Amino acid sequence: MDFDDTPEEAAFRAEARAWLDAHAIPKGHPDDFSDGLWSTAYDEDTYIERCRQWQRTLFEGGWAGITWPKEYGGRGLKPIHQVIFNQEQSRYGVSNGAFMISIGMAGPTILAHGTEEQKQRFLVPMLRGDELWCQLFSEPGAGSDLANLSTRAVRDGDGWVVTGQKLWTSSPERATWGMLLARTDPDVPKHKGISYFLLDMRSPGIEVRPLRQMTGEAHFSEVFLDGVRVPDENLLGAPGDGWRIAQTTLAAERGSIGGGRNMTPEMLIRHARRHGVANHPVVRQRIADAHIRFEVLRFLGYRMQTALSQGRTPGNEASIMKLAFARYMKALTETAIEVGGPHGMLASEEVGDEGIWVRRFLHAPSLRIAGGSDQVQANILGERALGLPPEPRPDKDVPYRELARGVR
Ligand SMILES: Cc1cc2nc3c(=O)[nH]c(=O)nc-3n(C[C@H](O)[C@H](O)[C@H](O)COP(=O)(O)OP(=O)(O)OC[C@H]3O[C@@H](n4cnc5c(N)ncnc54)[C@H](O)[C@@H]3O)c2cc1C
Repeated sequence: MDFDDTPEEAAFRAEARAWLDAHAIPKGHPDDFSDGLWSTAYDEDTYIERCRQWQRTLFEGGWAGITWPKEYGGRGLKPIHQVIFNQEQSRYGVSNGAFMISIGMAGPTILAHGTEEQKQRFLVPMLRGDELWCQLFSEPGAGSDLANLSTRAVRDGDGWVVTGQKLWTSSPERATWGMLLARTDPDVPKHKGISYFLLDMRSPGIEVRPLRQMTGEAHFSEVFLDGVRVPDENLLGAPGDGWRIAQTTLAAERGSIGGGRNMTPEMLIRHARRHGVANHPVVRQRIADAHIRFEVLRFLGYRMQTALSQGRTPGNEASIMKLAFARYMKALTETAIEVGGPHGMLASEEVGDEGIWVRRFLHAPSLRIAGGSDQVQANILGERALGLPPEPRPDKDVPYRELARGVR
């Protein structure tokens, strides 16, 4: 592990800092939106709009898509430069978190697997913040076992007709485009008959039904697809190559979920002081635990950074980071709720900061599921990092049509 910037990285950091000083609002500014959807100070629409404005500022300043080739609006630099910029940006009251699925997941997938026409069509509007994307992967019965998906795409003239149901789709009602996995060949084993489409969310036949979470918000939805037409030009890669392409999207997703460092142990300490329990021995122990977990995250971050700096793609590092981050958030928010005493259970506006902690507490379990559950990350690490025997996969070579959920 190497903790220091190279001279070139240090120069880049200084340049980023100078630009951010001139263009970004500071933390604590009345319009600070760096807390993302954790905050109760603004609603989701306001957050997305502020992210959109900031994304445009980044684009115009030449700081959007730092690793993307220049011909698609990027800066043509290495992943380590993006990490450095993110580190610097996190010191300001700004965020482009609403574009995580677009720029963080759809963008790298199209860059890696798209045709020249697809890159020309989608990448610049994405970087400029004009178009939001959603991810239409999960289905009832196809989450951890994603390859089990049953949404069908059937060839029809110069395009495809898609029918099926997606589940847990984050913000599809705001998205203009969706990354869609659908089965195009049920006669081959489940991983082989999947194709990857770029779906225009304004197409006829798409119905979005919001699902309310225990936070009270409807962050994700069910999406019903009833005879939705997708032109051939919006197939990404070859028919049947969807599983391989989806790995690019999923790896990007894992890497991005573990990256947040907005919620610090200092916030918990301030909260404990407000309630006069900062010196309670049990609370002190829990704060120390949060601090240790946060430090572990910091060092895991260095590990990812080192891999990127050396030109490697973090794989296992991203899984470890995601696991550690989800566990940290659970521990931190549980302690905060306990520290709050009876008020800790209230989420109303009147109780100010208490409401924020309740929201964070109720949101934290979803981090252990989204982007691949804790157990699935542990399986990945068991197999790929520790070399343990793989899980038995008896259905791996069986044609999808012959499986329990297969199309008959
Ligand atoms: C906040 C949030 C946002 C999301 N956004 C999106 C989105 O935008 N687009 C999208 O496509 N999906 C999205 N998802 C869905 C997410 O990817 C799935 O929830 C996740 O992959 C788990 O799938 P599942 O819910 O079907 O659970 P299941 O796969 O049914 O798992 C149920 C339980 O069984 C365990 N389990 C399953 N298989 C194994 C195994 N082999 N070994 C050990 N344990 C196992 C799991 O860990 C879990 O505890 C989102 C989820 C959340 C929580």
